[in-house]
Amino acid sequence: MKPILDIQDIYTYFYTESGVVEALDGVSFDVMPGEPVGIVGESGCGKTVTAHSTLRILPKNGKTIAGKIMYRGTNLLDLPDLQMRRIRGKEIAMIFQDPMTSLNPIFKIADQMTEVIALHRKCNKKEALEVAIETLEQVGISDADKRIVDYPHQFSGGMRQRILIARALALQPSLLIADEPTTALDVTIQAQVLEIIKEMQQKFGLAMMLITHNLGVVAEITKRVHIFYGGRVVESGPTVEIFTDPKHPYTRALFDSIPSLEKDKTRLETIPGNVPRLINPPKACRFHPRCKFATEVCSRVRPPDVWLGPQKRVVCHHFEELDLHVDETIMRKRVKVQEEA
Ligand code: SF4
Repeated sequence: MKPILDIQDIYTYFYTESGVVEALDGVSFDVMPGEPVGIVGESGCGKTVTAHSTLRILPKNGKTIAGKIMYRGTNLLDLPDLQMRRIRGKEIAMIFQDPMTSLNPIFKIADQMTEVIALHRKCNKKEALEVAIETLEQVGISDADKRIVDYPHQFSGGMRQRILIARALALQPSLLIADEPTTALDVTIQAQVLEIIKEMQQKFGLAMMLITHNLGVVAEITKRVHIFYGGRVVESGPTVEIFTDPKHPYTRALFDSIPSLEKDKTRLETIPGNVPRLINPPKACRFHPRCKFATEVCSRVRPPDVWLGPQKRVVCHHFEELDLHVDETIMRKRVKVQEEA
């Protein structure tokens, strides 16, 4: 089977008054048809920029200067604007972080859904309205036929996010990009919205890129994970393997910084330092200023992608040696996840 989306060595830069922000620095990964994939990393690691590069919705000062973004065998970076507009929404849909900024407050939900449905599905307004109501019902909006004439402010945050999910799904996309879809919601609503996303992904067999910094969400929904750091992918693999046997020091540090009742420690582990500024980022391995395993070579030579299997990759000079010093907490997590699997 061929990937539905195959991102090959892309470089996306932003040109600012302070200098060039090297936001994506040779990012490569793929998504198979019907596969839910997690894109994980701290804020500022390039997750959202990857999504915006894919949809070609970067701000004016941003540009993908090299690489290919192959969607069903076509390089999206080569497509004329008109063709790209047809793919955006209809083929590849996106759910954004904040539902309030994605819905126009001065238009009724009906107007915001039917226009785009009629345009992409080439149907009349009445048919588009029927599709909109049906999709709203699928995502759990009760009395959808009446509520569709309400304005966004008449819905709660969770309901607004459901509306955005419905609007994305109504176009029957092949690939859904969900960018931190629950970040703006409170915890109880987050679980409901995630459940809907999971249900819809399975029901429609959608390929999905789920962007998040929440490893719990990744474990719940995805089959494969790509870990981002400093505008690069530092580790990829099946979700179970990443959870049971993380190879990269950054992935391990992410796991260690999850609060856990199992840990016999009173202090929460943190990753020292901050995510690097991507104007003049650290040379070679971008994680080296924060990595407790860094050696001289790490700041001098960029680590290569090492493939440990068809889907498993790690980008670190020392990952083989590190396997000898597995943290006890990680070991316990491995055992727990394996037992639950
Ligand atoms: Fe740490 Fe070096 Fe590996 Fe980078 S290459 S993650 S600095 S050990």
